[in-house]
Amino acid sequence: MQDTYRHKGLRRNLVDEIRQKGITNSKVLEAINTVPRHLFMDSGFINFAYKDSAFPIGAGQTISQPYTVAFQTQILDIQPLEKVLEIGTGSGYQTAVLLEMGAKVYTIERQKELYLKAKAQLESMGYHPHFFYGDGYLGMPSYGPYNKILVTAGAPEIPEALIEQLQVGGKLICPVGDNQTQVMTLVEKISESDIKITKHGNFIFVPLLKGTNGK
Ligand code: SAH
Repeated sequence: MQDTYRHKGLRRNLVDEIRQKGITNSKVLEAINTVPRHLFMDSGFINFAYKDSAFPIGAGQTISQPYTVAFQTQILDIQPLEKVLEIGTGSGYQTAVLLEMGAKVYTIERQKELYLKAKAQLESMGYHPHFFYGDGYLGMPSYGPYNKILVTAGAPEIPEALIEQLQVGGKLICPVGDNQTQVMTLVEKISESDIKITKHGNFIFVPLLKGTNGK
C-alpha cells in the first residue's frame, strides 16, 4: 500500500476539518497532514482512513479519531526532543504523530497482537519509538521521568504511577470516566508535591485495562 496524491488530498481535507473543529497548533496540523493514516488501518476500513472517526483495529480496540489525536497532542504542547510516554500504542498512529512533532516516544501496549503489528508497521515506515509490551497502568519508570504523558484509553482514575513518572513542569493528559464517557483531564505537575488538574470536555475511548492480555 502506497501513499498517493489521492491520499495526500484526502489528508489535506481532513486537516481543514479538524482545524475548523478547533485545532490551531500548526505543528500538530502539519503532523496530521504528514502521517498516512490509511497505513495504520485494517484493510476493510482503508477507504474511511480520512474520515474524522475512530475505527476497529482488531483485538476489540480502535484507532482514535484524528480530532482526538490532534486534541491530545495539542494540549500537551509537545516540543522537539521531549520525552513522551504513550499508554496504548494501538495502531501506532498517535505514536507516529508524536514522532513527527520531534518527540522521543516511549509507547506501551497490553495486547500482544497490536504491539507486534504496530511495531512492524512503524518500523517499516522508518519510525523508531521505544516499544514495550506491558501494563501502562504502571508506566515505564526505568526510562522516566517524562516531560509529557499521553493516555489513549479511558481510565476510572489517573494512575498514580504515571503522575510519579511525570517531570516537574510536565503535563499528562488522560480521559477519565466510566465505560460510556470520559472527561479529558489534564494534570500539570507544579512541584514534586503539587499538581493542577483541569478538565477539557467529554470524549469516548476504549477502556484502560489492568495487566496484559498474557499471550
Ligand atoms: N493511540 C492508539 C489508540 C488505540 S486505543 C491509536 O492511535 O491507534 C487504546 C489502546 O490502549 C488499545 O490498543 C488498548 O489495548 C490499549 N490499552 C488499554 N489498557 C492498556 C494498558 N493498561 N496498558 C497499555 N495499553 C493499554
